[in-house]
Amino acid sequence: MHPRRLLDEHGLAARKRYGQNFLLDTTAAQRIAQATVAGEHGLPVLEIGPGTGTLTAALLGAGATLTAVEIDRGLAGILREREDLSSAEIVENDILAYDLRAFAGRAQRWAACGNLPYYITTPILFALLECEPQPVRIVAMIQREVAERLTAGPGSAAYGALSVVVAYRARASRLLTLRPAAFYPRPQVDSTVVVLERHAQPPVHPRDPHAMLLLIRAAFAYRRKTLANALELRDPSIPRARTTAALAAIGKPPEARGESLSLDDFARLADNLT
Ligand code: SAM
Repeated sequence: MHPRRLLDEHGLAARKRYGQNFLLDTTAAQRIAQATVAGEHGLPVLEIGPGTGTLTAALLGAGATLTAVEIDRGLAGILREREDLSSAEIVENDILAYDLRAFAGRAQRWAACGNLPYYITTPILFALLECEPQPVRIVAMIQREVAERLTAGPGSAAYGALSVVVAYRARASRLLTLRPAAFYPRPQVDSTVVVLERHAQPPVHPRDPHAMLLLIRAAFAYRRKTLANALELRDPSIPRARTTAALAAIGKPPEARGESLSLDDFARLADNLT
């Protein structure tokens, strides 16, 4: 059923503050679902922001064992009423407050999927990428401009902490791009579905992966500052002199910025700093 009709029947309307743009294209939904489950019948899948359930139904059709987390009480009610979705666990919660670690711990081997609310795309992706056990894949519909950041390389304007963390944790590819007309209501921009497939072997092996992830976040927290200044501002226990010495050890100048460092540089820098 058209999402607008489902909303009308329940006296609801699409809410901008929750980034609600419902997918109309059921063929795209099926492609996204198949890419998520990838033929592994019964695979535990976490769906983020199921909305009125278009992708939810496709994920169940593709064989997922589904948990879907939706913040909007009205939509959670619609989802619970839908008989075709009765095998899904519907959780009414904010995904950023949801205990992802507990879910991942129970599931062990799992995937994440969602037409993500645009206002919190980046924190959701960080939470999924940094989660242990890591999802085998993340299939996410995001704004095209954010998709470009995921695969950007050092020195480009789109390069940031998300690009480095993605490079560390997954192989990124694009599944499809959808025009605004594929949604109700129409968003302002095109949307891209990205597939982030967990690496079989991480491309770098820092001594303390957690410390490297913290370093990556800190390095991009103040884009206009040199890395040495940014780290000291973020954490006064890392004086500038220590960072410049660590930079020298990996062959980088003292005025280097986070945006000029590759994943490999971050791994070596983390080892020299800790
Ligand atoms: N999956 C549906 C679809 O494709 O038609 C809806 C996608 S819509 C872009 C984003 C969905 O995320 C909405 O249902 C919205 O209510 C939900 N949402 C927004 N913020 C959320 C949050 N913090 N936690 C969980 N769900 C959220």
